[in-house]
Amino acid sequence: MNNEQKELRSMSLEELQQVMVLAGEKPFRAKQVFEWLHKKQVSSIEEMTNLSKKLRTYLKENYTVDTLKVAKELISSIDGTRKYLFKLSDGNIIESVWMNYKHGNSVCISSQVGCRMGCKFCASTLGGLVRNLRPSEMLEQIYRIKEATGQRVDSIVIMGSGEPLDNYDSVVRFLRLITDENGENLSRRAITLSTCGIVPRIYDLAKENLPITLALSLHATTNEERIELMPIARKYSLDEVLEACEYYFKQTGRRISFEYSLVKDVNNSKEHAKRLSELISKTNSHVNLIPVNPVKERSFETVTRKQAEDFQKMLEKNGVNATIRREMGRDISGACGQLRRSFIEKN
Ligand code: SF4
Repeated sequence: MNNEQKELRSMSLEELQQVMVLAGEKPFRAKQVFEWLHKKQVSSIEEMTNLSKKLRTYLKENYTVDTLKVAKELISSIDGTRKYLFKLSDGNIIESVWMNYKHGNSVCISSQVGCRMGCKFCASTLGGLVRNLRPSEMLEQIYRIKEATGQRVDSIVIMGSGEPLDNYDSVVRFLRLITDENGENLSRRAITLSTCGIVPRIYDLAKENLPITLALSLHATTNEERIELMPIARKYSLDEVLEACEYYFKQTGRRISFEYSLVKDVNNSKEHAKRLSELISKTNSHVNLIPVNPVKERSFETVTRKQAEDFQKMLEKNGVNATIRREMGRDISGACGQLRRSFIEKN
C-alpha cells in the first residue's frame, strides 16, 4: 500500500468496511469511523472514542488521517469574508475563502497546489502545478473552516487554485464524500465546479450522476481571443466547449454558468456583447461577469462599475441573463492565488 491508499478520510464507506475486515472487526464499525471522519470531522484516530483501544492502535499503525492546519487567517473588515491559508502534511500551502451571503455561507476551495493551465489572468498558475490535492485535502478545507468560523457551510464552489477536471478522479471522489448522507450531506445543488474547459472530462462529469452546477470560464468570444487568454483554447475550440456544455445541461438539467472576466478595452465592447450573446443563445445558461482582478505579474486593467453595468445591459438587451459578481473581501483579497504567492515569497 502506498501513502495515498492508506489515508482514511479519502475512503468510501465500502472501502472502510474492507479496512475493518482486515482489522478483524465487524463491518458495521466502518460506519462509526466514517461518521467520525465526515460528520464529527475529527482530526485524529485518537479522537474516535467509541472504537476499542486495540482498533485505534491498529488504525494508527497502518493508516493516516489527513488534517489541515490553518497557517493564516485574514478577515475582511468590509464584509466579513475570511481567507485561509492551509498547510498540508507535506508543507505545501493552499488557499480557501469563506464568504457570507444573504442566502448562506459559501466556501471556495482549491483542487490542486498551483495549476498547469496557464490562464493569463490568474496568479495560481504562475509557479505551475505542484501536485494534485487528495479528496481528504479538499474535504478538510471545508471541515476546518467550519471549525474556525463555528458556522455551517451552505454551498461550495471549486474555484480556488487548480483546474478541478485536471484532478478528475479525486474531485469526483470528493464530490461523492461531501454529499454522502452519513457525512456532511451537502446538497449536490449547492455545489459549483469551475473549469477552463477540458472537453472530454465535461462529458465524463455529465455521466457521473452528480448534478452539480458547471461554471465554464469563457472570457472571450472568438477562438483567437480565447487562445490569447487561455492556452487550453488551442486544444479545444469554442464550438467544442459549448457543445460539451450543451450536453452537460441535457444530462443533468443544471443550467450552465458562463464566467466572463471583463478586461478594460480587451473584451468589453458592444461587438463582444453581441458575439457573446450569439454564442451562448442556444444553451440554457447564465453569465457571471467578473471585473478582472489586477495581477501584479500581468498587465490587465479592470473595468469601472459603470462599464460592467453597460456590458450587462447590452447582454440583457439580447435576451441573455447576466449578473456582475460582487467582489468579496476587497481589503484582504487580490486575485485568486495571490495570497498564497505572497505568503510563500515571505516565508
Ligand atoms: S483560472 Fe483556473 S484553470 Fe486557469 S490557471 Fe487559474 S486556476 Fe488554473
